[in-house]
Parts: sequence; structure tokens; C-alpha cells
Amino acid sequence: MPKLLVVAPNWIGDCLMAQPLLARLRDKRPALRIEVLAPPWVVPLFAHMPEADEVIAAPFAHGALALGARWRLGRALRARRYDQAIVLPNSWKSALVPLFADIALRSGYVGESRYGLLNLLYRAPRPARPMLEHYARLSEAPGAPLPASLPAPRLQVDAAAVAATALAFGFAPPPGRNIVLCPGAEYGPAKRWPAERFGALAADLAAQGAGVFLLGSANDAAVCDAVVQASGSAAQSLAGRTRLGQAIELIAAADAVVTNDSGLMHVAAALDRPQVALFGSSSPAHTPPHSPRARVVWLQPACSPCFARVCPLGHFRCMTELAPQRVRDEVAQLGVLGSGQSH
Ligand code: SF4
Repeated sequence: MPKLLVVAPNWIGDCLMAQPLLARLRDKRPALRIEVLAPPWVVPLFAHMPEADEVIAAPFAHGALALGARWRLGRALRARRYDQAIVLPNSWKSALVPLFADIALRSGYVGESRYGLLNLLYRAPRPARPMLEHYARLSEAPGAPLPASLPAPRLQVDAAAVAATALAFGFAPPPGRNIVLCPGAEYGPAKRWPAERFGALAADLAAQGAGVFLLGSANDAAVCDAVVQASGSAAQSLAGRTRLGQAIELIAAADAVVTNDSGLMHVAAALDRPQVALFGSSSPAHTPPHSPRARVVWLQPACSPCFARVCPLGHFRCMTELAPQRVRDEVAQLGVLGSGQSH
């Protein structure tokens, strides 16, 4: 059986954008065994992707060179006798494990001048293509065209597990409505709709009878606390209290999800949940939520997208000029307010 090792990206959203690549590889070679080497914090994502036959947690801290640990892991993986590795991150260090594992064919984008480290090299097209397409190109020969349509990322969840997790975290059982807000964005504050706006939205949604829950990592806890305060405690923060697998199940249980352009936005899209996605400094042309049930809000002032982590102009108009009422109207368009149900 041919064996492939895929070195996964570091970000939740990028991992989801890579799923169509895995699906395409599996379509082309049904007998292919696909194993994924992933940072521990994204491992639960791949557990919900049927294309991944096994996920190996990489024992490295984010950004660490960890040369010794990469050498030991690579040598340990030699016994698995992979036929090929596909390296998705652009960094030099991310290509080391396949080299140390003596994998003969090592492919990926040139990235950080990885001549020699990789031996099947791709050049990133200019202008940049959407991330989903960017990764999927690695399923073809360099320069070869992609098929006209690619599958959207999709996560599989167990309905019983979703119901149990929703109950454990206080979601109202049907016909109650539960709306998840994700006010964080790991990339930086220029992607975050301000906490007081999220708070006003939460208060509005709660006043209409919805249960409002805030999801995010421990890094988002302070932002979520500020949202709770701004909402007059109309929302409940679960940030930092869930593992990623539980967050996936809670999003799967939600009647609607409102996010910034973040990893959890892509999770909601991959779970086919009705959602509103708020873009500021980034572009929905580059990393859209791949879902027909997603409504994108992007004011797009002349300076947007700037792709900065912090507003370089100081005024942050791309997000501060977005009113809670506008987002609330978008949520209403999803049909989840009033008596409507989306399940
Ligand atoms: S420069 Fe414009 S697009 Fe970038 S963060 Fe500031 S307001 Fe937003």
C-alpha cells in the first residue's frame, strides 16, 4: 500500500483549507494511506477528516527549531517507509522531518528556499490564489491545472457526541436556540470586531430568546470576558474551557455562528452551520468560509485588505464602522431568530 506523510500547517483554518488536497489525493489513488504530522493543537481537526488514516502529534512548540526533536522523530518515522511527503508550511524547519525520515520524494512550495530539503518543488502563483486552491495544487504535477471544481472542507461529527457536549456546556435543548459567537482571532487585533460590538450583538440576540455562548482558546479568554461585560452578562464565555474537539461539537450544535476571519470561522463552514463571517483587514477572496450558508460582511474601506495584524493607520475603520445592528440583521437573514430553526 502506498504511504504518504502530510506535514500539516500550524493554524486551524489552514488545516481545513488543506482537506480538499487530501480528498483529491485519495480520489486519485484510493489505496493511498495518508498519515498527517500535525501540531498537537490541531490534531482534533484531523480526527474529523475521513481522509486522514492516522494523525501523529508533532512534539514541537510553535516556532521552535527543535532540531534534536525533529531528528529523533524523523529517525523514528523511517520504519514507516513512506513513499512521499507533502510539506504544507513554508518554513525550512517544517521540511526537516521528512528529510530525516529518508522519504525519497518530498514535495511542497519553495517557501524559505527549500532547495535540497524538498525535491519536488512548486512555485506559488502570482497573484496569490485562495488557500484551498494553493494547497490543492500540490495534488497535481507542478504547473498542471486543477480540476474545475474542488470539494469544500467538511468535518464529520458524531451526532450523539454533539448532543452530549451541548448538554454538558449548557446549550438549551430544542426548540431552544443557541448562538455561538467567536470574538477572537489568533492572527491579531486587526481581524477582531471590537468586544463592545460583539457585546451589543450578544445582548440583542439574548433579548430575542437565544442562548449566547462565546467560544475561543485560552488566548481569547480576555477578549471574551470583555464581551461578556459589554453584553451585561447576556453571554456566557466558554473560552479556554473547551478542548478543540469540544469546540467543534459545540459549533456543530449551534443554530448560528458569528465569527471574525478566524480558524473557528472555517470550522463553522466545514460543519455547514449557518454563519456570519466578519472581515476587516483580510480578504474573503483569499480565505472565504467555504459554505453556501455563510454570509460575509466586509465593509472594505479603501485601505482594506491590508493583511496587517494591527491597524497601521490607527483608525481601524474596517471594523469600528461595522454596527451591531448590521450584524444582527445578517443573523436574522439566516432564519434562526424568532421561531425559525436551522437544523
Ligand atoms: S489599514 Fe484599513 S484595512 Fe487595515 S486594519 Fe486599518 S482600517 Fe483595517
